[in-house]
Amino acid sequence: MAGVRLKRWDNVRILTEEPKGTPMGRREVSLDKGQLLSWDRGRVFLDIARRGCGSACRYCYISAPEAPQEPATPDDVLDAAERLTKDDRYQAGARGTVISLSPNSEPFRSAASTLLVMTALSRLLVNGNPIQIPTKESVPAELLRLVDAEAKSDDQVVFFISLATMNRAESLEPGAAAIEDRLANAARLRRHRCRSCAYIKPFLKAAIHELGDFAARLRAARFDCVCVGMRYRARLRTTADVVVPVAHVADRGGTSPAYETYSRPHPVHSGYVAERIGPDLRDFYETLRTACAPTPVFLTSTCVSSFLLDREPPLPVWRELPQLCVNCRSCGQGVGHR
Ligand code: SF4
Repeated sequence: MAGVRLKRWDNVRILTEEPKGTPMGRREVSLDKGQLLSWDRGRVFLDIARRGCGSACRYCYISAPEAPQEPATPDDVLDAAERLTKDDRYQAGARGTVISLSPNSEPFRSAASTLLVMTALSRLLVNGNPIQIPTKESVPAELLRLVDAEAKSDDQVVFFISLATMNRAESLEPGAAAIEDRLANAARLRRHRCRSCAYIKPFLKAAIHELGDFAARLRAARFDCVCVGMRYRARLRTTADVVVPVAHVADRGGTSPAYETYSRPHPVHSGYVAERIGPDLRDFYETLRTACAPTPVFLTSTCVSSFLLDREPPLPVWRELPQLCVNCRSCGQGVGHR
């Protein structure tokens, strides 16, 4: 590709110059996902596709979100699930490792991708770990029947129904399901042994102009939880190919107000860092919190499962990322953190 130079950053390939016409500042990033697993502190991400997604979200940082999904094989997914449970970092149980399924591609793109998610669930539900599944589609009935039969508790599996916009999905997420279909998940999921979370991630500036619609439609849909998530951008750079190093917030002794600077790397796409939490996001959050009460509204997905399972999140959010802690419970109390 002319004018584009490649750079290695951990396991991420970054195009260090922006190809002209790339929508909304997205740079092409492709993970080395041969193993389908990516570990973060107390969390693990298990992919079911090797490339592509099909939702074509204009704000996405995966490689080729508009490309047809290239699913892994059932054997690959089963192998990844096995390796996950045998890894030294893995802890079983509701207070153990948080597992995110298909974080980089739409899990319910097709019958084949749904089958892969069910393959992973068949192996992992039995251990009781919190399982998170993000989607922009209707959750398939056959998968819900599996969850009903195998889940260790009604709080083990949370479906994060992605809703970054209420009125611009056709242009911003042209390959994803209609907003009405996504919202309808809330009522359907209430009839099954799982939980639902409206996932407003990434938080886009355009969402501010849709705040009234978000409040009214989320209140009507009655999700179990709501979560507003920040947007990630490529690391700051001074020239086209010099990347400015940024410290992980944990390296700052836990005193840095996380997200006020570009400081928090994406847990999987390490070439990307979180956008700051500014007044716009704060106002958006507060309005939703009031509108959706008593439904809890969070600022990070790990706190959703933690709240539902009455446990602390795998990352000590209350200490290391205090701006993301909404004080839903008593994390850290008794050990001197708060
Ligand atoms: S108290 Fe804070 S850190 Fe703990 S689960 Fe709630 S929001 Fe997260």
